[in-house]
Amino acid sequence: MKKRYPLTSAEARKKRYGEWAGNPKGSAYVPGRCAYDCFSKNDFIPHQCSRRNGNGPDKLYCRQHAQIVEREVENEKRQAEALNVLKGVT
Ligand SMILES: [Zn+2]
Repeated sequence: MKKRYPLTSAEARKKRYGEWAGNPKGSAYVPGRCAYDCFSKNDFIPHQCSRRNGNGPDKLYCRQHAQIVEREVENEKRQAEALNVLKGVT
């Protein structure tokens, strides 16, 4: 599955933004900017957030997106734990 939010700078450097039929390779990650994949209102092509990074996992995100990513990571952890509990029961 394609990850929407890199958690390490190594992952961020490999990430591409805005891939679509007209631009299959998308754009490269720009260091120093928040690593989040954003959609603007009138645009269906995602692009890298233009705010400065410095928050969240590996300080890759702006403050707003750091909160979203940390919540997502927390949710995934909880789901994985719930799955393990289920596996333990059955
Ligand atoms: Zn951002």
